[in-house]
Amino acid sequence: MDVPVKLCTRCHKPVTKHYDDYELFEGMHWLCFHLEFEHNADPDEKCSDPGCPWWHIEVYRKRLRELHEDPEKVLEEAIAKLASE
Ligand SMILES: [Zn+2]
Ligand SMILES: [Zn+2]
Repeated sequence: MDVPVKLCTRCHKPVTKHYDDYELFEGMHWLCFHLEFEHNADPDEKCSDPGCPWWHIEVYRKRLRELHEDPEKVLEEAIAKLASE
């Protein structure tokens, strides 16, 4: 049985990952909801909301450096691995 397509009211693309939370996120993707209502900064930069994915990335980068790993090198290795798959 086909389920009806739910389109995001912000970016107009189909919502799939958080399909069941469509109403909870005001008819948007989770990320679109965050950017529309919670993100209080340039969309390309982290905001002060602990749910912000940019903020999450910064937390991980900081911890990698504490563990004496270079975040850029980790990314380069992942990209090389991706290209070889
Ligand atoms: Zn969207
Ligand atoms: Zn944010």
